[in-house]
Amino acid sequence: MPEIKPAPDANIRAQSYLIARTSVRCWHCGLPTRLLALAMPPSHETLHGDTQTGAGNGWESVSDEWQRANVNAFLFYVECLPTRVESRLQQFWRFFCLAHSPATLNSYWANHCEHCGILIGDHELHCEPEGAFVPSSEAAAADIQLVQIPEPFEASAAGYAIEPEFFAFMRHG
Ligand SMILES: [Zn+2]
Repeated sequence: MPEIKPAPDANIRAQSYLIARTSVRCWHCGLPTRLLALAMPPSHETLHGDTQTGAGNGWESVSDEWQRANVNAFLFYVECLPTRVESRLQQFWRFFCLAHSPATLNSYWANHCEHCGILIGDHELHCEPEGAFVPSSEAAAADIQLVQIPEPFEASAAGYAIEPEFFAFMRHG
């Protein structure tokens, strides 16, 4: 289970980022709806203390506070984003937007069904087995499209999944 906690300030940053896209059947209305998630390429940086650290784990210190993580990662329960990243996400998919979460008692950037508007929470997409962003096979991973955004990124995210399984099989588009 990923740890979930409030993170008021940026705890993740990178020189570029990835937008992951896939679709799922809405749990409420049953229609297929598109989804979006944020992913980090290797060489992103995490604020010290917010992730597991240690020699040999793929992390190296870049300052007293920030450490470089040489791994791919998905972000979820994203609470704060710079305005330029928010604008970019809204261009991609307007149903990914700030929502109040009863689970975390915070607002976070969440997917909403494009048909009925209901919240499709990050827990079911990122934390459940066979969640839309937790592919259980190469074929399932191939349903996820990754779009590289060559722009600086920072975020406050309470959910951080490193080296997602089958990441290499996701399509770059
Ligand atoms: Zn729906």
